[in-house]
Parts: sequence; C-alpha cells; structure tokens
Amino acid sequence: MGRTDITRLELGEPDFGTPKHIEEAAIQAISEGFTHYTATEGILELREAVARKLKRENRIDADPETEILITDGGLGAIFAAIQSLVDPGNEVLILDPAWPRYPQNVLLVDGVLKRVFLGEEDGFMPDADQIGKYVTKKTKLIILNTPNNPTGAVVPKVLLEEIGDLAVEHDLILLLDEVYERIVYEAEHFSLATHSGLKDHTVTVFSFSKTYAMTGWRIGYAVSHANIIESMNKVSGYANACQNSFAQKAAIAALDGPQDCVDTMVKEYRKRRNLMIDRLKEMDAFYVTKPKGAFYLYPRLLLDMDSSDFAKLLIEKAKVAVMPGTTFSMKGEKYFRISYANSMKKISEAMDKIETVIM
Ligand code: PMP
Repeated sequence: MGRTDITRLELGEPDFGTPKHIEEAAIQAISEGFTHYTATEGILELREAVARKLKRENRIDADPETEILITDGGLGAIFAAIQSLVDPGNEVLILDPAWPRYPQNVLLVDGVLKRVFLGEEDGFMPDADQIGKYVTKKTKLIILNTPNNPTGAVVPKVLLEEIGDLAVEHDLILLLDEVYERIVYEAEHFSLATHSGLKDHTVTVFSFSKTYAMTGWRIGYAVSHANIIESMNKVSGYANACQNSFAQKAAIAALDGPQDCVDTMVKEYRKRRNLMIDRLKEMDAFYVTKPKGAFYLYPRLLLDMDSSDFAKLLIEKAKVAVMPGTTFSMKGEKYFRISYANSMKKISEAMDKIETVIM
C-alpha cells in the first residue's frame, strides 16, 4: 500500500497554499538579497508589525523592542518558554487532552508533569477550581491552548479570566498557546494577556502556520514580560541564531496585507466541519460534538474497540489515516482526532470509505 493512496486526516496542517501576496514578499526579499542572519529576536520591522496586530486583533499592548520575540514557529516559542521558565522538579500543569509537544518539552527539562483531565461532558472546558486543586508550591507553569488541538474547544473569556486570577493568586505563569486564534466559528477568541495585570503572568504564543497556511515557513512569535522575553531570546539564539530572514519579510506581508485570504479559508473549514460532523453522526458509531475552533474533531468511539485498533483498521481497510486519542491523552483509548483541513471531495470520499469499513 503506497503512502500516496492514503487520505491523511491525521495531519495538523492546512491543505491550502500560502496566499500569493505572502509568497511574493518572500521572493522579493530574496531577489533584493535579504538572505543573511538577522537579529535573534527578529527584525524590528516585523516586531513592529506584530505589535500593531496584537493591539488591533488581540487588544494586547506590547513594546516591540522588549516584549515580542520572533520564533521558529509557535513551537519555537513554546520550547523557548519551557526551557526558560521550568527548572528540574518544577511542576507543570497540562490540561489533558493536549498537544503532545507540551509534555515532551516539559520532560526535556526534567519538569514534573501534572495532568488535569478535562471531560467531554463539559465540552473539554478547563475549570479554575479544578485546576486549583493541582497547584502546589512547586507549580511553575500552566499550559492552556485555545482554540484547542485536539478537541477544537474555544475557551470563553470568563473561564480564562478565572484561570488568570488563579495564576496571580499563586504567582504562576500561564503559557497560552493561541496558534489557532483566527480559526473560530460560532465563538470569539479571547487573549487573556489583554489584562494589564496578567502581562507578567503570561507568555502568549502565536504563529503564522495555521492562520496563513505557512507551516513550512517556520515563523511564530511570543509576547510576554520583557524579562521573560529576554531569557527566551537567549534560548532561541543558542538554538537558532535567528529565524529565516525572508520568511520574516513574508510574515510582515501576512500581517499588514489583506486578510480576506484568512476569511476564505475559515469559511471553507466551517463547511468541511459541518460535512464531517453530519457524515460521522449518520454512521451511529461515534459520539461527536461540534467544536467551535481549530480544524479537528475529537469523536468518541461507540464501537467495541480501542482507538489504536480503530486507526489501524482505517489505514488498512479504508486507507484513511486518523490519530488515536492516546497521542493526546492518558484517557484517550476511546477517542480519535480527525482533521477536516482537507477538500470537501476528499472528506466526502474518506467518509464513504470509513462507513463501508465499519458497517
Ligand atoms: N500549538 C498547537 C496546539 C499546534 O497544534 C501546533 C501545530 N500542530 C503548534 C502549536 C505549532 O505550530 P507551528 O510551530 O507550526 O507554529
């Protein structure tokens, strides 16, 4: 069975091409010879464009000179934040299910992982009281991701504010992963760092990867207190020297240029989400909720098998790849993540194939 035969619904990346005006900005930068090292923290022109965007879209005030760091994708920011903030033995709270790069990065610095399990019955929403029960004197960091991978949950403002209060009360840092900020449907994304008192207690991570279909360009950014940004910049510099020069120019074009490309993609994702939900529900083999963000569903299997066997069955018999829930959760045996970042035609064909296999 060739890999090309398989419909890849396990992946976490947009199937759209990077918008043309962004590509052209990179090509122009290359032809003008902008092909050398830049400042480790990113070119000032990009940090200024980021500061304008943060103000305009996230209502976050940030000084481009000291409070913004350009990173190697959102992951580069997460890596630098965890390396900077977590010492061996420090406890880090992760809301389970979670993107597996968080636990991997915490273990890399000998941090101690504490998983706070979220439930399907609550729409996988975090709860400050529940999180509070896991906080000890050793707790350093809480990692929060909204819109969420893998559940698609978008955490409302009021819940985030309660978690913000908890961080202030216990003097903790919140690592807020907001890389899916623009991919929301019936909900509004809220950035907690907008509250001035929370700036010192948050590191917020953004990326160009999902919003502008730029996963391979490897550009993201973080906003936080100047001291935290300074240490993250050291980590980033030791690892990377700087980020790709012409990708930074392209990133400026992405932020300052027309945004209808994003709206078009989000509109399309919404249609695909609705199609996939309808088709999966019809099969009567899954419990499916309707997430309000990102481009994943996280259905529960009603079949008498666990999710790794189910994923194997789909790959072998339907030639459709999905991700078993155990990739994201210690309680993921009955769940799987399926991405709708694929064409309506491919999704429709994949649903036909899944239906044939499970019926
Ligand atoms: N956070 C989450 C939740 C993600 O799903 C991803 C990509 N899969 C990232 C961060 C990082 O993406 P990138 O490094 O490409 O910006």
